Amino acid sequence: MKRAIAEELAAARTLALREERIPEYDSVRDAIARRLSARENEGLTPLLNGTGIVLHTNLGRAPLAPQALAAIAEIAGGYSNLEFDLRSGNRGSRYARVTDLLRETTGADDALVVNNCAAAVLLILEALANGREVVVARNQVIEIGGAFRLPDVLRRSGAQLVEVGTTNRVRLSDFEAVVTPRTALFLRSHQSNYRIEGFIEDVPPGELAALGRRVGVPVVEDLGSGALIALERFGLAHERTVGEAVRDGLSLVAFSGDKLLGGPQAGIVVGSGALIARLRANPLVRALRVDKATLAALAATLRLYLQEETLAQIPLYGMLAQSLDALRARAEALRERLPSELHPRVIESEAYVGGGTLPATTIRSIALEIAPRDPDAFAERARTGEPALVGRTENQRFLIDLRTIPPERDDDVARIVSSVSHQA
Ligand SMILES: *Cc1c(COP(=O)(O)O)cnc(C)c1O
Repeated sequence: MKRAIAEELAAARTLALREERIPEYDSVRDAIARRLSARENEGLTPLLNGTGIVLHTNLGRAPLAPQALAAIAEIAGGYSNLEFDLRSGNRGSRYARVTDLLRETTGADDALVVNNCAAAVLLILEALANGREVVVARNQVIEIGGAFRLPDVLRRSGAQLVEVGTTNRVRLSDFEAVVTPRTALFLRSHQSNYRIEGFIEDVPPGELAALGRRVGVPVVEDLGSGALIALERFGLAHERTVGEAVRDGLSLVAFSGDKLLGGPQAGIVVGSGALIARLRANPLVRALRVDKATLAALAATLRLYLQEETLAQIPLYGMLAQSLDALRARAEALRERLPSELHPRVIESEAYVGGGTLPATTIRSIALEIAPRDPDAFAERARTGEPALVGRTENQRFLIDLRTIPPERDDDVARIVSSVSHQA
């Protein structure tokens, strides 16, 4: 507080010297108050996600289940047997418990957890392909955004990219033709945020895995989202699950912990015991390792997959499971509480699963549409409100999709929207 006062007074003195004008007491006091409240808002702040994008990377991806939060509090708030075997009293493995759960939920032989999926891919390439060749179909040489471009990650890990096929078509014989003693891996990557349509041909993963076994080349898949369950039950399009990739016979499968798994940020690799052992022995593992809070939250989230009844307690699946009728009833109740000058309406909308690998996968949803005089100014005031509300602006309307708002927060939505509209 003292620093804020000193800074504001220094600014007032400069102004007085330059313009021979002394600011009013009230204006200096208000400026100090603004400086202080701006500073309070500098940290991470929770917000209400009215965008309808369930896995929004900018908004923190998957919210954690209550069980995962409790596990973090319990394990991270004290000491634990993180690397300690209680039976023998000797040093134990950091990953033992979560590995068992990953085996059970994916059907894989073995598993390893690192900081995120990008780290998992880097580790695989560095441990298995350094100084050798990695074969990738041209239609999967991807950039998933920001700093993750597959050719750059390959170069960094000392591997050489060998592209096969054409932009739209690739065949098994294309892979077979380039195999030499220098071939380290066949790498498949989820096409993430783009699609090629029309005259296309691809190699089914199971056939690539079989070729890999025949010629002695491990086949690795960067699955990205890492769904553990079929998404059809929520009315969504089919998304290849980790279990399917394992059953297809892939040697290693990498995926994120905070996308469709619904857990904390993490990169998970599952697959053959021999290859996972080589990853574990690589010095990068130490640099990419996860902490006790992540492991506690991941294990607690995975446990929710063991029983059908607990699945909806993963917030992501709770949101996807909400019926349109339930969403509509909430929207109607909210509409009646909003100022009529906003012309609130209940409309059908499309929510997005999001999360990079499923940008185009939509699910029917219900939104509250309001028509403020200046939608952009309204959106900005809602974003900077307390709590912050982020919505969508479309065709001069402000939309709040209810699928991504927890039902118990509807009161907050009504309060923020009313208070923003009164400021206008
Ligand atoms: C999201 C994604 C990644 C990166 O995962 P992070 O956990 O964010 O590092 C890598 N590959 C694919 C295909 C992805 O979709």
